[in-house]
Amino acid sequence: MNLILFGPPGAGKGTQAKYLVQKLNNFQISTGEMLREEIQNNSEIGKKIVNDMNEGKFVSDQIVNTLIEKKLSDPDKKNRLIFDGYPRSLSQAKNLEELLKKTNQVIDFIFFLNVDKDVIIKRIENRKLIEKRSDDDLKTFIKRYDTYMATTKPVLDFYSKNPKFYEIDGSSEITEITAKIDNFINV
Ligand code: AMP
Repeated sequence: MNLILFGPPGAGKGTQAKYLVQKLNNFQISTGEMLREEIQNNSEIGKKIVNDMNEGKFVSDQIVNTLIEKKLSDPDKKNRLIFDGYPRSLSQAKNLEELLKKTNQVIDFIFFLNVDKDVIIKRIENRKLIEKRSDDDLKTFIKRYDTYMATTKPVLDFYSKNPKFYEIDGSSEITEITAKIDNFINV
């Protein structure tokens, strides 16, 4: 089973992805984590993206698509993918469609975790205390949120027409969101 977790930064995609990884024995495909790893390893990609990441800007589609292609082409991960934070632009969504076709896979569920900006701001403030992510200060968050609204909203419009699209109220408790997802996937 392949799933997409969709929603603004701080909506809880990562938390639900980790739960689903355990439950389905799948793999979390978090472009944010993959990009942070590149920075930690001080790789060529890492050096190129560090400023954009710290400023809350999107990393180029080309870099992200290349990282994603590696994961989709891995036979061990076939039909065991949980996308968290990808796709984030229409061009990424189209790239994903092509890669799925090429690797003979489909998306089974698209979950949109819908949360208001105020609720997310509170969550980001808490997460900053726990994880100490350098892109988590409030100014950067607002930039990330606005980038999401401008660039990712068209992806939402694109996926909302898909019969596999489900909207979930992401402002409820983590366990409630998990229960709703469980109910939809029904395994
Ligand atoms: P996240 O951990 O998903 O909140 O992502 C953290 C940051 O990584 C974002 O603010 C972007 O700078 C970058 N990023 C993550 N995923 C993508 C993506 N699919 N496309 C472009 N940039 C991304």
